[in-house]
This record gives sequence, structure tokens and C-alpha cells, in this order.
Amino acid sequence: MSTTTAAEPQYKVLIGMEIHVQLATQSKMFTGAANGFGGDPNSQVDPVILGLPGVLPVINKRAVEMAMMVGLALNCQIAAQTKWDRKSYYYPDLPKNYQISQYDQPLCGAGSIELPLADGGSKTVRIRRAHLEEDAGKLLHEAGMTESLVDLNRAGTPLLEIVTEPDLTSPEEARLFGEELRRICRYLGVSHGIMQQGHMRFEPNINLHIYHHGKTIKTAITEIKNLNSFRAVERACSYEIQRQLAEYLAHPEVMPSQGKSTRGWDDDKGMTLLQREKEEAHDYRYFPDPDLVPLHIAPRWVEAIRSGVVELPIARRKRYQEVFGMSAKEAFSLTEERAVADLFDRAASLGAPVRRLTNLFLGPAAKMANEAATDQATTVLISDLPVTAEQYARLAQLVETGGISATSAVMVFEHLIKHPEADPAQAAEQLGLMQIRDQNQTEAWVMQALAANPQAISDYKNNPKKKQASLGFLRGAVMKASQGKADPKLVGEILEAKLKA
Ligand code: MN
Repeated sequence: MSTTTAAEPQYKVLIGMEIHVQLATQSKMFTGAANGFGGDPNSQVDPVILGLPGVLPVINKRAVEMAMMVGLALNCQIAAQTKWDRKSYYYPDLPKNYQISQYDQPLCGAGSIELPLADGGSKTVRIRRAHLEEDAGKLLHEAGMTESLVDLNRAGTPLLEIVTEPDLTSPEEARLFGEELRRICRYLGVSHGIMQQGHMRFEPNINLHIYHHGKTIKTAITEIKNLNSFRAVERACSYEIQRQLAEYLAHPEVMPSQGKSTRGWDDDKGMTLLQREKEEAHDYRYFPDPDLVPLHIAPRWVEAIRSGVVELPIARRKRYQEVFGMSAKEAFSLTEERAVADLFDRAASLGAPVRRLTNLFLGPAAKMANEAATDQATTVLISDLPVTAEQYARLAQLVETGGISATSAVMVFEHLIKHPEADPAQAAEQLGLMQIRDQNQTEAWVMQALAANPQAISDYKNNPKKKQASLGFLRGAVMKASQGKADPKLVGEILEAKLKA
């Protein structure tokens, strides 16, 4: 155990996030060139992307609408007027030497979301703004080459940059926020949210309020650039908190710089490295883009977009818990993917008993979907399986009414996967799984189980501590003797009557 000579100071963590989300539009932000991942280098370009003389940008309406959808989902004010600005940029992956962005009149203003936390509670995370801009291309520095290569396929891709207030207070909260935002974007269909393809890039801004010797010391803000996995967000924030604390403790007499610095994350080394110091807005020489008109957004356009915003994952989880009586964990699993939740809701609306339906989804369906994914890169969702809402509803009803046992339901489900046209009740019949409620037949199974287990009978009668356990054991033995076909309720009744006799 290590001992500390001086008490560690108390401190509070403040994290604000900047997130760039690539919007899944057909074409690019200001031109008709295709917006898609892959393709040969420089195959998704046109004169606008290349910044050739005489070209003019045209606003992508769909990108504006997608950005409005996200803004509305984050409860942001949608601006009545928004404009476009040029941000100076001098790398060759954006050939016209500026990025079109939005400086002082972003499309989406202040908002907030109620972020669910791991302990079951939630916290308000304020959104400062969200604006549209275009992405840059990629510079490739290949080993052994003296030149760099430029691929402009990504250049001009619509990006929504979302900025939060510094309301996140731990690396875990920063990760949870990122995951929730990804879920929201996927629900809205504005982004596929594939992290490996850079669809979402996170930039946490971190500083500490340290309470030491009766004073509050605020460390300088650092921004960690371009994190493209949730694990990296959490690790980089943890590292940066410790680094800032250690830096203060090493030189508590030095007043922290008020300027902001930029750091990169080295995932292999697990540390952040200084990139740039003191970068401010005026360094970018923003000015209104004379090639683009400001947008006046009519309230009726906003309302039309609002009416198309689907029920979001946070609201859906809440409904599953409050209306369907699910645990937080069950509600979370079932709402992770919109297609799965939609299928669940359809089956429930067809009259499926929700408890049975939940068990089918999280039991056999989840297992089959998992097994259908042949490798780590592919994901098979429950909604990708060839089982319809109608089949789920009928199967759940069959279990509820005692037609088949929960164990048999798994076998019927496996049958439905192989025979997508099958009716659950007919399948259960064919497979010989329909429960048998015949009194004489059930009694025979009970007697068979009792004869085979004299020790359990003795425990039930003579050992109060083992009474419940032995009853459960015997009930299981009867079900086994019936090959799962006995009605558990009838078994319980007959078994207790025989044991008391
Ligand atoms: Mn940006």
C-alpha cells in the first residue's frame, strides 16, 4: 500500500464535447458529387470539390433538414436565419483553401438532453450549438515515399458539429454522452454511426477546478482532437484529468495559463501529446461566404421536420420501463437499435403479452442473431431474422395461454427460423410440443418422478430447510419425465397433493 505525505486536493472535472457527425446524404454539402465511403481515391470529386476557378457552391437541402432533425432531438432552438462563413484552412486536403462552416449564426442554437447514467439516474447536458460545415479530404503519408498523397473523396462531405456546455463530469459520462448521441443519430437515420469509418469524431475539452489550501484553481482547458472510438474518449479523458492534476501538483505556485491548448491522443501509448497552444477564433479569419445566401427558415419548415422526428431512444426506454414494466437493462437492450424496437412494438400492438415477448426477444431471438453473425465485423440484429411480428405475437400468446412451455417456445422459435412461413401453433403441434393437460397422464409422470427420487421426498417431508428446494427439484423431474410437455401449473398441483398424502 502506498502512503501519501500530503492530502490530495479535492477537484471537480469539467468536460465539454465537440462532436463531428458525417451526415448520410446522397450528395455532398455544396455540390452534387457522390457522398459515399470507399471507391477509388479521388473518384468522388467534381470541380467544386477540386476548388477550380469559376465554380459556385449550392446548399444541400437534405443536409440542412438532417441537421435540423438532430437539433430538434437535442431540444435546440432552430435559427430563423443562418449563414455560411469561410474558415481559413491551408492544408492540401481542402483545395480551395477554406472550409465553409457557420461562425456566428449556427443553424441550431442552445438545447439540452437528459442523459441516462449508469446508476439509473440521469443528468442534464446542455447543448451550446450545432452547425453545418464540410469535411476535408485525407492526406496519406506512406512509408518510403517522399511525397504525401491526397484523397479528396471525403472532402465536402456534410458534417454536423455539435458543441456541448462543460456539463460532463467524468470520463464515463463523456463516453455515455457519445454513445447516446450515436444512438440518436442512428434512430433519426441521419448517420450510420460507423465509428471505424469515421462517421463520428469526438473532441473533449477538459479542465479541472482544484480546491486547495482554501482556493479554487482552474486548470487551462485542453482539447483532445479527433477521437474515433468510445473507448478512446474514456481513456483519453482519464489520462488528461490525471495529467492536469499532476501538472498542478508539480508546480502549484505557477498560475495556470488561461489559453487553450490542443492535444492528440496516442492510443498505443495511452497518452495525450501537445499539438498546438493558444488557438483562437481570429486565427481562422472567418468571414461570410459571398457565394452563399443566408438561409431564412420558416416556422412551418421546422414544424414539418419536427413531425418527422421519431420517438427517440431515451423516451422509448422510459416507455418500455413505465408502460411495459421492463427492467432498465431489458429496456436498454430492446431499444438499442430502432429496427429491433420497431419490431417489438409491432408485435406488442398485435396483442403479444409483453413479458413473454420480452423473454422471446432477449432469449432465443438474441441468441440466434448473435450466432448468425459469422465474424466480428458483421452485426445481425433480431430484426434481421426471418421471424415476423405476427409470428412473435402468436408464439408469445401460445406461451401465455399455456399451449406450450417457455422451453418449448425456444424450439418452436428455432423451427420458425428454418421455416419462415410456419405458423407457431402448427409448428408446436408438428414438433409434438403442445402441452398435455391430461390429468391421468400428468399423474403418471408425477408418480414416475417420485419413484425415481426417494431422497428428495424424504427431504421434503423431514427437512424444513430443504423443503422448497426439493419441491423445485421434483417439479423439474416431472417436467423432464414429460419431455417438457406437461403443464407446469397442473404438475405443481398434483405433486403437492401426492407429497401431502
Ligand atoms: Mn468543425
